[in-house]
Amino acid sequence: GSAEGSRGFGAHDPFLRVRGARENNLRGVDVDVPRDALVVVTGVSGSGKSSLAFGTIYAEAQRRYFESVAPYARRLIHQVGAPKVEEITGLPPAVALEQRRSAPTSRSSVGTVTTLSNSLRMLFSRAGTYPPGATRLDSDSFSPNTAVGACPRCHGLGVVHDVTEESLVPDQDLTIRQGAIASWPGAWQGKNLRDILDALGHDVDRPWRELPRRDREWILFTDEQPVVTVHPVREAHRITRPYQGTYTSAKRYVLKTFADSKSTALRERAARFMTSGPCPACGGRRLGPGALAVTFAGHDIADLTALPLDRLAALLRPTAEGPGDGVAETITRDLLARIEVLAELGLGYLGMDRPTPTLSAGELQRLRLATQLRSGLFGVVYVLDEPSAGLHPADTAPLLGVLERLIQAGNSLLVVEHDLDVMRRADWIVDVGPGAGEQGGHVLHSGSVAELAHVRESRTRRFLFGEGDAGPLGERDAGPGEPDGRREPRRPTGWLALGGITLHNLRDLDARFPLGVFTAVTGVSGSGKSTLVSRVLADVIAEHLGDRGAPAPAAAEAEEDGEEAELTYRHVGTVEGIEAVGRLVRVDQKPIGRTPRSNLATYTGLFDAVRKLYASTDEAKARGYTASRFSFNVPGGRCGTCQGEGFIAVELLFLPGTYAPCPTCGGARYNPDTLAVTHRGATIADVLGMTVDTAADFLADVPAASRGLRTLRDVGLGYLRLGQPATELSGGEAQRIKLATELQRIRRGHTVYLLDEPTTGLHPADTEVLMRQLHGLVDAGDSVIVVEHDMAVVADADWVVDLGPGGGDEGGRVVAQGTPREVAQSPDSRTAPYLRECLR
Ligand code: ADP
Ligand code: ADP
Ligand code: ZN
Ligand code: ZN
Repeated sequence: GSAEGSRGFGAHDPFLRVRGARENNLRGVDVDVPRDALVVVTGVSGSGKSSLAFGTIYAEAQRRYFESVAPYARRLIHQVGAPKVEEITGLPPAVALEQRRSAPTSRSSVGTVTTLSNSLRMLFSRAGTYPPGATRLDSDSFSPNTAVGACPRCHGLGVVHDVTEESLVPDQDLTIRQGAIASWPGAWQGKNLRDILDALGHDVDRPWRELPRRDREWILFTDEQPVVTVHPVREAHRITRPYQGTYTSAKRYVLKTFADSKSTALRERAARFMTSGPCPACGGRRLGPGALAVTFAGHDIADLTALPLDRLAALLRPTAEGPGDGVAETITRDLLARIEVLAELGLGYLGMDRPTPTLSAGELQRLRLATQLRSGLFGVVYVLDEPSAGLHPADTAPLLGVLERLIQAGNSLLVVEHDLDVMRRADWIVDVGPGAGEQGGHVLHSGSVAELAHVRESRTRRFLFGEGDAGPLGERDAGPGEPDGRREPRRPTGWLALGGITLHNLRDLDARFPLGVFTAVTGVSGSGKSTLVSRVLADVIAEHLGDRGAPAPAAAEAEEDGEEAELTYRHVGTVEGIEAVGRLVRVDQKPIGRTPRSNLATYTGLFDAVRKLYASTDEAKARGYTASRFSFNVPGGRCGTCQGEGFIAVELLFLPGTYAPCPTCGGARYNPDTLAVTHRGATIADVLGMTVDTAADFLADVPAASRGLRTLRDVGLGYLRLGQPATELSGGEAQRIKLATELQRIRRGHTVYLLDEPTTGLHPADTEVLMRQLHGLVDAGDSVIVVEHDMAVVADADWVVDLGPGGGDEGGRVVAQGTPREVAQSPDSRTAPYLRECLR
């Protein structure tokens, strides 16, 4: 691709023109879109929207930017590769706000991402009320993350942790062998420590409280780490050999695990054996005494940072709207203006101290969007990925207002979006399709929304214009119909009732969920849906099931989630009806892996069948290759340069975590010998390059693979490639992969499926496919509970629990519950009007 052609038009061409785009599945796409306008790119999942918006337009803008600012980066760009496009003209600099691949650091918070923290610190430094005689502090003194600002006692953490004999040994009547030291690690490691103590001459069969005090203290608190030869106590019929064991005191183990473990589960377990409380010096406020003595409007900065933004705005307003134009007025006006944008985007319930890892992808994108609005950039094209994700329909209008303002400020917007309300408001719509993967890659329409009504091939058309459409899910076979053709809601087979739930903004809430039906939990953003479903309900069920619960697909996650459960359980007073539940399956949007090494085929277990298939070929047998030869995760058959990743990480100053194809294998992942083995003319690398659809034919006679491939197609993922790295998948795709993995399992016992916004990233046509699957589970007797904003899905549920009325402190209550029809009539529910609209 070259930019030479753009000269002719100069900066005045009102169109951005793409010629010959061939990135991924794009079929030599030519498309013109207006600048200074809201352009929505739509089409079914996998049709090529991202390939056009991000892979072509944004990638090319970024390439040009690097070339202009950093000539040295050229070499690196060469490695990363330019997008496959003949020409793009009229292309302004681009800013992408993507949902996938945003990995905020754990230190960041709402305040840091939006830079509101900086302004607030400035306000306290320059315009705070200081005690008499105190000298003014600089901004850094108001940050717990700096050496000058942090409370000297807790180093800015706000809490102090310690261990005591009581916390480490909760039941002193037990002997060490009986598990007196509950804080020790479990399983083998715990037995190991016990055997070491035994070898050191301690009595492991005497009740703890009868051991000499000095011994007890040494066992729990010593910093020594003696090494002894252990002759393990013989277990059942296992033969055990002597070995060298290192002793670690309970204190050392607990504090170290808490400080260093990568596993949330282990950290939280360690925390249970610690006494931790607010730091006595700062009272949990994380700052030194000097900073905490400074106030604004009667509050210290820690108070203000913890307030929901809506409340903070109310506190700042009197100053901002005052007549003066001093420092206080200037800073508060700026703060207020920025907070108002956040509030408009439905984020007013967040506090500045909220860590970004606890935010959803949609919330984070909207935070960034709001921040852009105040950046003063103009002449930029913003490329966005489904900004409506996580938004209640009531919040869509304000979102559109913010997008409109970005345009008024002189920018262009290219938005990949599935929300029909956003599509309707577009100045221009680009419909990509008609299908996914090979069946997509064409621009079916590029023009006004109204004109799309005449494009027969478009799958979007039916949803926008409603032709021949008996409601989005109308085709599903239904029970006795209601007057409008909708089926009768199913009847619950039982109820799961939780009482006295207190967590985040839920305060002593009672909630009940019907079993054996499809339930939708609704409410504006921040009302408490995720807290109720993904935290409380999930954890209560997991706790009840104990080891009987289904392991989450990824082992590491299962461990973490399982452990969190015990902690959260304390947030619930009473639980009734849980005996009916035999299994829990959470299908969330967390990535299926964090490196390009994990992919669709490995995650679903499909790849095991493929490797066995290749090991069973004559060629492999002749060469003596077993299935492990065909793994790219162990040495042997894989490419030595990239160690089977197919990519190498490129350290780019501006682009952390960028990958370039491996120079040795060109992305194949394997060495030439392994690739000499073929099945029906395809190497194992070729199989990883196949889409699910293609592989379903190729592997049709391999039962272990075809079953999994079929379920992947059933959830609408036929367009994904088997080797598609986990890092390239959207949250919605990850979620559907998990669902497919689950569907291929043999099921037993009543299962409760929990899903958080399963329609994210889905075109309405994809939503239909997914919903057919979910309703199929309910028809088979299981329960499905979804958090959802898509009213088509909600209208087709059997039961609706609507939370609200607002977000944060204004939410957390059940505003209405019942069948969709009943909830649609609720006068207090903000969901009701939208649901009514959909039920008409
Ligand atoms: P959409 O954004 O419409 O969901 P994408 O542009 O992400 O679609 O994908 C279009 C097609 O390109 C799909 O078949 C997808 O599997 C394929 N694809 C996406 N990313 C890559 C990639 N990095 N390499 C090869 N193919 C890809
Ligand atoms: P919804 O799913 O309806 O958008 P959430 O359950 O995510 O709402 O949030 C409900 C309330 O709980 C909000 O005020 C939110 O800020 C707060 N909240 C959610 N998660 C956390 C968390 N990890 N830490 C602190 N507060 C949280
Ligand atoms: Zn402190
Ligand atoms: Zn390689």
